[in-house]
Amino acid sequence: APSTTAPTPRTVLAGIPAYVPKPPAPPAEGPSHRLFLNENPYPPLPSVREAIARAATQTNHYPTIHPERLLDALARRLDVPPGHLVTGPGSVGIYQQIGQAMLEPGDEVLYAWPSFEAYPIVARMAGAVPVEVPLVDGVHDLDAMAAAITPRTRAVFLCEPNNPTGTAVGRAGLERFLDRVPGDVLVVLDEAYFEFYRSPNAPDGVELHHDRPNLLTLRTFSKAYGLAGLRVGYGVAQPAIAEALRKCAVPCGVGRVAEEAALTALHVETELFERVERIVAERERTRESLLALGWEVLPSETNFLWLPTGEASESVARDWERRGLLVRAFAHSGLRVTVGSAEANDLLIAAAKETAPPAR
Ligand code: PMP
Repeated sequence: APSTTAPTPRTVLAGIPAYVPKPPAPPAEGPSHRLFLNENPYPPLPSVREAIARAATQTNHYPTIHPERLLDALARRLDVPPGHLVTGPGSVGIYQQIGQAMLEPGDEVLYAWPSFEAYPIVARMAGAVPVEVPLVDGVHDLDAMAAAITPRTRAVFLCEPNNPTGTAVGRAGLERFLDRVPGDVLVVLDEAYFEFYRSPNAPDGVELHHDRPNLLTLRTFSKAYGLAGLRVGYGVAQPAIAEALRKCAVPCGVGRVAEEAALTALHVETELFERVERIVAERERTRESLLALGWEVLPSETNFLWLPTGEASESVARDWERRGLLVRAFAHSGLRVTVGSAEANDLLIAAAKETAPPAR
């Protein structure tokens, strides 16, 4: 007879939170705007759609184990040897590779909090111990992070600029911090929003990796390149780390359609970056408007804004949701609002005008 017992999943899984809590619900009627996942509001360019359609005729064939053509194109684009690159199904895919390649049970993984929600998941999944250092006024406290490094620290995850607050530490602060991290500790510099980072002091993790063997820089095609639906991320590190991560990649983990779209996106980057420019201009316009209405909004180097609305966060989010503005509420702390189309941002500003900003 069939057994009535079931296999037990690894015990660490019990402590792992859901990646994203419940997505906001669109109103029953009328248009709505997805402002909760930091997506690009623009649909793919015609040239990218054509590449996708071309690749769609080949989907009976496997892709190569690693996306070799994309790796070559990235190597040329970034001026790094192909052996310094790793790809994955989104940068979250590369985080899983990091867990498998670089973390042992009991290792400490250090990161700021709040930051990208994958960090505690990756650490716990590997059986590692998450060590969270609180942000100060929404910004990384790099002194406190350096002080929290112990002989058990195996990796530091550093989101620059930070999700969900949009804030950045800048090149000088980052380099001072990197100088304080022991060479045997991996630093993952998460540059998912690199292309939106306009400060002249923005660090460039690809440049920094050349003389830092413990640095892994992550970037993605999901945000500035507008390909979140296809799942392509990449990492840049010196060969020892890059090779270890490639070993842990899901074989054929970047599909043919995704590879073709990413290649074309690189090719038409100038056109895509004009859109990035418009998103950055909209970010500044939206922030200025919200500030003028009495809302607190942190400066942002990303494609989203952080409103530290504290206890009011969930009620404001529900109110805006009814108006078709689907934003991300962080309980008791704030709202993260993606910079959308000009139309969506206008609706947001109108909603912010009619909702009283929470008392400070
Ligand atoms: N890093 C950060 C900081 C992010 O905010 C995100 C997406 N929200 C990612 C990585 C993952 O992006 P993807 O897997 O789409 O490349």
